[in-house]
Amino acid sequence: MKKMFDIAIIGAGPAGIGTAIESYIFGIKNILLIEKADNHSATIRNFYKDNKRVDKDWMGQTVECEGRIVFMDGTKETTLDLFDKLLDKHKIETLFNTEVEKVEKKEDFFEIYTTDNKIFKAKNVVIAIGKMGKPNKPSYKIPPSIKQFVNFNLDKCSKNEKILVVGGGNSAAEYAYFLADSNEVTLNYRREKFTRLNPENEKIINEYVKNGKLKLKMGIDINSLDSEHGKPKVNFSNSSSEIYDRIIYAIGGTTPIDFLKKCSIEVANNKVEVDENFQTKIPGLFAAGDIVTATGGSIAIALNHGYKIASYITKNRKI
Ligand SMILES: Cc1cc2nc3c(=O)[nH]c(=O)nc-3n(C[C@H](O)[C@H](O)[C@H](O)COP(=O)(O)OP(=O)(O)OC[C@H]3O[C@@H](n4cnc5c(N)ncnc54)[C@H](O)[C@@H]3O)c2cc1C
Repeated sequence: MKKMFDIAIIGAGPAGIGTAIESYIFGIKNILLIEKADNHSATIRNFYKDNKRVDKDWMGQTVECEGRIVFMDGTKETTLDLFDKLLDKHKIETLFNTEVEKVEKKEDFFEIYTTDNKIFKAKNVVIAIGKMGKPNKPSYKIPPSIKQFVNFNLDKCSKNEKILVVGGGNSAAEYAYFLADSNEVTLNYRREKFTRLNPENEKIINEYVKNGKLKLKMGIDINSLDSEHGKPKVNFSNSSSEIYDRIIYAIGGTTPIDFLKKCSIEVANNKVEVDENFQTKIPGLFAAGDIVTATGGSIAIALNHGYKIASYITKNRKI
């Protein structure tokens, strides 16, 4: 018979790592962590710019860390180092490059199916797959001929480009002022004012604008995109149009509804329904991190979910 894990965790981001480490510290050693990317924390690696400041109280959400993981303000690199060290020290069995397709409840355990046709068994399953697997896309069509110049992170950016960054949150602000050091950047937000920026980002944006390093286009939406000689032409709601070398959308991520449906998990208002212990309606099946927060989650919030789940499973474990 195949090995039965006490806990299988799907997704090695902050919520998955938090659950794994806290469970291990509680004494549960039979843990499997499954990650589709080739390393942990794919959202942090792919969407945070190098050296990004990482705020513990992200988006103005003051969070007291409840578990044993000491997470503080830092950078992208210090945050990844912290998770590297935790995973090395606690020797969690981790499978990278393994994408889970669905989870099925059997009598008193779960079967976890991967896209490469493996099946794992576990008594408890924690789904911690985040929302950035599918970044939010605009509702209008992106013409195929300009797709390469329409991006959702900074991977393809170089220097001396004319760039439009779209979004009104901290991610958009941080992308905009980072790119503005070596490009001609406009930050476009459909509302008249930023309402979700933390004070530090607001201050930096204001300084960049004052010094002429960054342009703002506020209270203006985008109606459509065209291709003009292979470059993105943006048609704004005030009837103006402008051609850019690149557009970066930083407008959050989508709840992975299809995956959750395949696991028979209910989603309401764009978040998974869970109880106070982050258990779904299916006993033994938990959800953590961004997929259980309606708007923006954070690393500290995700770590706290992991601690709550680990405490609950430990208390209710049949030895
Ligand atoms: C640009 C940006 C800047 C941010 N800055 C901050 C900040 O300064 N401070 C802060 O606290 N928060 C910040 N956040 C928010 C923070 O990154 C998230 O709240 C946090 O990463 C959520 O953790 P998570 O574990 O729920 O999901 P994620 O971090 O998204 O991790 C999910 C993991 O699951 C994996 N996965 C997905 N699907 C599958 C599958 N089917 N099978 C196996 N594995 C799968 C993914 O590859 C990924 O590694 C920022 C977010 C963005 C986008």
